[in-house]
Amino acid sequence: MEINILEEFFNICDEKVFSCINCGVCSASCPISNFMEITPQKLIFFLINNKKEVLEKNTIWLCASCLNCQARCRKSIDFSKVADALRHIYLKERARKKLSLELEIDKIKREILIKSPQQLFIALQRKFAYY
Ligand code: SF4
Ligand code: SF4
Repeated sequence: MEINILEEFFNICDEKVFSCINCGVCSASCPISNFMEITPQKLIFFLINNKKEVLEKNTIWLCASCLNCQARCRKSIDFSKVADALRHIYLKERARKKLSLELEIDKIKREILIKSPQQLFIALQRKFAYY
């Protein structure tokens, strides 16, 4: 069964993504956007267009919740909450399909690993262990 990503999103998150004006300030403010497969701005654009591909982008895992983007967003959108909600939906989908939830850390590119905050991976391990 295909999931409706927008419906799933608004079931667990009330972040007002439809007020996004697609200005790109979030992406320009993000210290790790260079490592993201799509920028926070694009991810929100895909999400409001109901593209479930957002779940497959490393953007949702690389967001370190630093809130830099939210501080500068004219619409006060908190991208870290968006990323958190999408991680949750991703994990729920994996569990529903009975797929392995192990974090395959050796599949993450070395240049991403060494430049990403280590607590991100600890947090990921804990989230995976929870399920
Ligand atoms: S800064 Fe805010 S309004 Fe601009 S693209 Fe990012 S989320 Fe949308
Ligand atoms: S909260 Fe996430 S997306 Fe926003 S600037 Fe920080 S790392 Fe980047």
